[in-house]
Amino acid sequence: MSTNETELQVISEAKKLLLFGGAWQPGSAGNTFSVEDPSTGTELCQVADAGPEDARAAMDSAATAQAKWAARPPRERAEILRRAYELLMQHQDDLALLITLENGKPLAESRGEVAYGADFFRWFAEEAVRIDGRYNTAPNGQGRYLVMKQPIGPCLFITPWNFPIAMGCRKIAPAAAAGCSMIVKPAEQTPLTMLALAEQLMEAGFPPGVLNVLPTSNPGSLVDAIIDDRRLRKLSFTGSTEVGKHLAARSAANLLKLSMELGGNAPFIVFDDANIEQAVAGAVIAKMRNAGQACVAANRFYVHESVADQFTSALSDQIYTMRIGRGTEKGVQVGPLIDAAGKHKVESLVADAVRRGARQTNDPFNVGSLGYFSPPTVLVDIAPGSRLLQEEIFGPVAPIVTFKTDDEAIAKANDTPNGLVSYFYTQNLSRAINVSEALEAGMIGVNRGFVSDAAAPFGGVKHSGFGREGGHEGIEEYLEVKYVAMSI
Ligand code: NAP
Repeated sequence: MSTNETELQVISEAKKLLLFGGAWQPGSAGNTFSVEDPSTGTELCQVADAGPEDARAAMDSAATAQAKWAARPPRERAEILRRAYELLMQHQDDLALLITLENGKPLAESRGEVAYGADFFRWFAEEAVRIDGRYNTAPNGQGRYLVMKQPIGPCLFITPWNFPIAMGCRKIAPAAAAGCSMIVKPAEQTPLTMLALAEQLMEAGFPPGVLNVLPTSNPGSLVDAIIDDRRLRKLSFTGSTEVGKHLAARSAANLLKLSMELGGNAPFIVFDDANIEQAVAGAVIAKMRNAGQACVAANRFYVHESVADQFTSALSDQIYTMRIGRGTEKGVQVGPLIDAAGKHKVESLVADAVRRGARQTNDPFNVGSLGYFSPPTVLVDIAPGSRLLQEEIFGPVAPIVTFKTDDEAIAKANDTPNGLVSYFYTQNLSRAINVSEALEAGMIGVNRGFVSDAAAPFGGVKHSGFGREGGHEGIEEYLEVKYVAMSI
């Protein structure tokens, strides 16, 4: 089969319906919406469009499934999760192709994302059987205290388009391990991947109603209908800080337990004693993964003035020779941005910096007019106050700013409302500890350009949100503590 025939087959076989009550359904109003290929701007297919009535039906289904799922022996839940891990890895290539078609990232990155997402099912299969509690004697010796952890109950998950499978896996796996049922609302641009994930999870043995998936073109009214339902107990959101704040306020009336995985603005610091070759390799990973469209993307490079020329020239050599193109093509390293709005935002941030005196270190790429491609760019001479130092760029643009002292680098790095991840390169152990302690971020990468791992607690501080996904902490987000006081 040619590449195009394989793509057509994957799209034609992809699930395009809503999932609730254990059945694939067209949606009460019978509406559909369009999913695009961002590398061409053309339609891939139509997907069923859920509305508030479907939301209520999905909530009924999650609420009905909750008690039975919570009562299943942890070992049985664990075995379903382990099967899910194996199925996802068996279908790694098909899932990766679907991600690349609707998100645009290169196939190698999509395969990596499937493996990363699947790993959450493996990790939480292992955690499901280790939910513990406590027994202790009251201080006055008169009573005994029992502390138990129980599943919080039905959850709502809202996920973004930039990691369409992984962001779902990071929520579904710990919730299912803890014994919670759930409704997932995937991003409008990438519903096919979430539906394909759900298909594999049903195959792995998720019982009807435990997992419900509602793609929609109207997130506000759908999500409002679910958030207002008293049976919902938890909202976990991954997306922009702006929408996160709106949803946190919206959830207050129902006092939902919240996890908020929000926007980043990661600094990447290169100290004078850094191994520059390693720093450049890490910078390429931290900046260019998913064409810069990652919450953990390096947004601002702070480089000691003594190594700035060396770092800038080596980074430019790498970035300006990357192969741009459709993610399905062999050897492509940089795909398109997700849509016209994303492309426009990156262009406006670069234009603002250039207007204030910034310059590109090389001639710009010509990315053509098809799809939403944005040229990889390295910028120097950035004026303080430039918007791209303050806002998430979400594109393949690396602004480089120099510094003289450690204190100056730390102050600049922390000068943002966000605090998701910070990266830095040094070969000095004391500096590694001191700077790690001083940076205001939920995650720190020391001498590496990536931090994500199912075994580690992913999450932010400040306006990057709260709550952790992965690690031992990940399952706690889905458990409530109950204390039993006993007189004996
Ligand atoms: P977004 O616009 O906030 O959308 C995220 C999700 O929220 C989508 O499913 C979206 O649905 C939904 N949504 C939008 N408005 C809503 C509303 N009024 N009510 C309910 N749901 C609503 O963010 P994005 O552009 O997709 O994603 C990029 C952002 O996510 C970046 O800021 C990035 O840093 C952040 N992110 C954070 C993490 C983390 O772990 N901290 C990970 C990945 C991404 P529609 O698709 O229908 O608009």
